[in-house]
Amino acid sequence: MNIVQFQNDLLVWYEKSKRDLPWRRSKNPYYIWVSEIMLQQTRVDTVIPYFNRFIEQFPTLEAFADADEELYLKSWEGLGYYSRVRNLHSAVQDVVENYQCNVPNTVAEMRKLKGVGAYTAGAVTSIAYNVPAPAVDGNVMRVYARLFEIDADIAAPTSKNLFEVKVMETISTADPSSFNQGLMELGALICTPAKPRCLLCPVQTHCQAFQNGTESKLPIKTKKKQGKQVYIISVVIQNEFGELLIQKRPAKGLLAGLWEFPSIEVELELMQSSETVETVVADQINFNLFNVDQIAKFKHVFTHITWRIVGFTACCHHQGQTIVPNQVWVSEKELLQYALPIPFQKLYQHFQTNKNQN
Ligand code: SF4
Repeated sequence: MNIVQFQNDLLVWYEKSKRDLPWRRSKNPYYIWVSEIMLQQTRVDTVIPYFNRFIEQFPTLEAFADADEELYLKSWEGLGYYSRVRNLHSAVQDVVENYQCNVPNTVAEMRKLKGVGAYTAGAVTSIAYNVPAPAVDGNVMRVYARLFEIDADIAAPTSKNLFEVKVMETISTADPSSFNQGLMELGALICTPAKPRCLLCPVQTHCQAFQNGTESKLPIKTKKKQGKQVYIISVVIQNEFGELLIQKRPAKGLLAGLWEFPSIEVELELMQSSETVETVVADQINFNLFNVDQIAKFKHVFTHITWRIVGFTACCHHQGQTIVPNQVWVSEKELLQYALPIPFQKLYQHFQTNKNQN
């Protein structure tokens, strides 16, 4: 490969074709950092409104460092993978306290921050500070696997290093920021997982896979084993004042510290029993329920686990009853202030649809 020509072709194309994304309008390393964390496991279209709201709410490192957990979890609500924002918060506090509010400008220093791995450190330092560092994620591995016909399994953790070395051999030292962003953009718009648009590709003449007709066979990626199936019963309980009961999830584990409708993990057989809600769930929440009705059945896929959720609605008399400490009654308006992860938002939508039909 003629590396200089390759860099040039990529950079010229990127300059011409790059999408106008909010985090590309400045070189503020904090903005770039936030965007890179949000973009992990999440599509660009989904991230844009979250990013805009987040930056409006926490415009500076200091503003975010001072924010309460409840507040920033709410702003992340629906994006999932909440440990990302918790780690980001700790790391930003670290930057404010120990780096005089300056996001570190080397990969080594950035990697000392909580939740910052090789990809994030490479992306932030290259994009914000023009450091020639690799930022290798799944997209970049796909592009390089095709460009150089690399048949390493990109799902294997050991492969990443191989691709990082290859990127370092080819990165533009004159403009690593645009080079890395160009690679990301190429992976998103042209060298897509299925049906790469080779005829429109700016680096087609450098691509070994295209020359040998192997682009649809690359990259090699072994399939992940199917995650564990967990069966959940979740109940939207309404009292005589129209309030809903929500509870805070435990401080550790999946969706830690977020809010949910009273829910319980059950064995598969119990999912199929209509008595489960009255017995198992009512037991957990101290109330006698009535008008119990199934309103939803859906699944929610996390990285290593799939929740199979059966959702119910139920009524109860609140007066004279005590609730357990992690629970609270809220009006539907107040519910909007609590960070409710996607599965429970979905259940709430079913609840509203069901209510409007009755
Ligand atoms: Fe990807 Fe095709 Fe371009 Fe090669 S020519 S980099 S396979 S889009």
